[in-house]
Amino acid sequence: MFIDLPDSYCYNVSKNERSIARIKESVLVVNEGISFNDLMYALTYRMKGKRYCKYCGQYIPKEKITLDHIWPRDLGGPTITTNLNPSCCKCNSDKANMTMEEYMLYQGMSKPDKTNFIRDIYLKHEKIKHETGFILPIGWGEMIPIKEVNSGRIPKNVNIELVEQFYKVYRNLRKPIVVDRNGFLLDGLRVFLFARKIQIRHIPAIILDNVEVVRKKG
Ligand SMILES: [Zn+2]
Repeated sequence: MFIDLPDSYCYNVSKNERSIARIKESVLVVNEGISFNDLMYALTYRMKGKRYCKYCGQYIPKEKITLDHIWPRDLGGPTITTNLNPSCCKCNSDKANMTMEEYMLYQGMSKPDKTNFIRDIYLKHEKIKHETGFILPIGWGEMIPIKEVNSGRIPKNVNIELVEQFYKVYRNLRKPIVVDRNGFLLDGLRVFLFARKIQIRHIPAIILDNVEVVRKKG
């Protein structure tokens, strides 16, 4: 899939450092080793602003802004610009693990209906977790051979307990991994390590066709 990107961008950690992410010919070129999530947050604010909630439209002081996952994390929603909305704390916690469609329905409901609706959503999500682990909007994800994923350097002592626990209960992976257009791992290291441990041959992945990691030399 192609994520939303601004026309131009240059991301530096500090003024003295060379750019660690930039946009070149509509592709986000990222230096290896940077926090991909932080970059996605910064790009989202650049494109969608940092002052107003996308749901209620209210002005929010900069320090109180949050980022909501439009397609909920509970369903496997990734941290990518296309899936993030600046929002106030209230809207973010109200929307919780609902999809946009569910949230629209929810907002028009009476209080008792809302309670039942939240329970129904919980049951619906439980069912999805048992069936497939997660679910994504059409065109976002696909299965790729795990041996084609390039994880880069793996830090020591990565804790994969949560992924293991999820698998014990649901017999599925809890979310897809996110890779750049060459199969370089951007997000989902824990899922990747667990999948490798249990020797899964194909892993669910979101391939970002307009993102490319530049590997460190040496
Ligand atoms: Zn709001």
